[in-house]
Amino acid sequence: MRIVLFGAPGAGKGTQAKLLVEEFGLFHLSTGDVLRQAIEDRTELGLQAQGFMNRGDLVPDSLVIAIVENAILGLESQKGFILDGFPRTLNQAHELDGFLAQQKRNLSCVISLEVAEEELVKRIAMRGNEAQLRRADDNVETVRSRFKAFETQTLPLKHYYAQKKILCEVDGIGSVSVIYKAVRMAATGQTIC
Ligand code: AMP
Repeated sequence: MRIVLFGAPGAGKGTQAKLLVEEFGLFHLSTGDVLRQAIEDRTELGLQAQGFMNRGDLVPDSLVIAIVENAILGLESQKGFILDGFPRTLNQAHELDGFLAQQKRNLSCVISLEVAEEELVKRIAMRGNEAQLRRADDNVETVRSRFKAFETQTLPLKHYYAQKKILCEVDGIGSVSVIYKAVRMAATGQTIC
């Protein structure tokens, strides 16, 4: 399984990725998590990413592409993976394809969690109220920019992956376990995408 989990901010990518990892022992790479850790550790990467993330803008492609390529390079070829929050631009998607092709790997599917915008706003607001889940970028202004970045820069990727016939849309509204059933079907190739 070499999966991309795709969806707007708050669509539940992290939650579903965790469940797939628990069941199938995949390697999970969230570029957002790597960047947040880099900021906490005050590394060069963190310093370069911080301003973009605080504004809710995308971090430059070159930085995130390097994170993903280094992580995949270190993986044994048999090991499956989930990319969560990457790719987010067409350029990132092209780079990923080229890189995987060099490694004689490819993506098995792109699972898109479909959630209406009103629901996303509610979920992020809830996350912002729960100390445990709260993220620095879950405030109103930043969330607005993150949605905008999603719509303008990331949404076109659906068309790209649909053309490659590896896009699988899953209804992302409902209980976590019901959504996971559909995600699991897509991940195991039981859904015709
Ligand atoms: P996430 O945790 O996936 O919502 O990502 C949080 C923030 O990290 C985003 O708003 C971006 O600023 C940055 N980020 C994460 N992944 C990427 C990516 N693939 N491309 C550009 N920026 C990213």
